[in-house]
Amino acid sequence: MLYNCHIHTFRGDDIPREFLPLGLVRILASRAGFRVIGRILNYLNPFSSDDLFDRYVRFVKIGRLESQQKIFELCRKFYPVNSKFFVLSMDMEYMGAGKVPRSYADQLRELAEMKTAYPDLIFPFVHVDPRRPGMMELVKKCFEEWGFTGIKIYPSLGYFPYDDDLDPVYHYAQNNNLPVIAHASPYNPVHYKGSKRKLKALLAKAKTEIDLSSNKRKKLCSNFAHPDNYKLVFEKFPNLRICLAHFGSDYFWQKFLDEPDCTGNWFTLIRERISEYPNLYTDISFTLHNKEFFPLLKVLMAEPLLKKRILLGSDYYMVETKTNERRFGIELRALLGEEGFKIISVDNPVAFLTGTVNAPI
Ligand SMILES: [Zn+2]
Repeated sequence: MLYNCHIHTFRGDDIPREFLPLGLVRILASRAGFRVIGRILNYLNPFSSDDLFDRYVRFVKIGRLESQQKIFELCRKFYPVNSKFFVLSMDMEYMGAGKVPRSYADQLRELAEMKTAYPDLIFPFVHVDPRRPGMMELVKKCFEEWGFTGIKIYPSLGYFPYDDDLDPVYHYAQNNNLPVIAHASPYNPVHYKGSKRKLKALLAKAKTEIDLSSNKRKKLCSNFAHPDNYKLVFEKFPNLRICLAHFGSDYFWQKFLDEPDCTGNWFTLIRERISEYPNLYTDISFTLHNKEFFPLLKVLMAEPLLKKRILLGSDYYMVETKTNERRFGIELRALLGEEGFKIISVDNPVAFLTGTVNAPI
């Protein structure tokens, strides 16, 4: 038995048009578009089955499956029977990337049905975007009617985690002992895509000094997700349990290894903050798709405090654009050994879910 604390099962019609570059979402959404792209791929690189576009096709193919349950069933085949999964929903209506074909409430309702079908295996998280009107009612419905497990936030889409409009949600989470997972990696392609003018207006809501030295959209959006933004959240809600997903990202793991002078490294920041905040966790999803980082993870697992705050996660099926899911769990288990693997895949997830360290499963 294990917990994968970070997967997604949202469908292609939960994704706005500009989610992938080059209008690929729209092109690949049609059967004809799929065939054309397939042919171009063969033409471009007839000897490789593994280039970037090919991975995009794989990504969109999964999203095109007819239900979240189909996507989940595909994922769980890669793991031992009875593995448990935190399934993170996504509200992409307000990221300025075009219209989302299906309503967010429908995505959540379908996730709730999946929870009913697999009550012991699925732990749904509701993504909260403070810009959605009536968001708190939706959140309450998720927990009080649909058996959801936790809250998800994705600040890079254009909001700060300390946004006052999130206060009622954190308040509810703290009172009801619900865990929060926050996307916290910089520079990834999923961020606010609206006009620069609108982006600047969103950034003007900053309550701390932010970095405006670059005019690049992904750099600007990284201000929303910065790990130090959570200081303000913990000041108001000291008992919240928050997982900063992706452990600072592969970008900063690389920097840590190769550029020791690099200041403001998010990986280092999260590592330090974990020693300051007793309820702060991180996960290795996506970042650890790169096996180059395995030795560093193994070394981190020797730190008594840190090793208790790292959660296993893969970021299925986002990670399909980078690597293959199947080997991930097994290779990690071989790396960490049974004891280390149990810590990140069972003990820590249970502590994060319940707030009780070493709680019985
Ligand atoms: Zn994710």
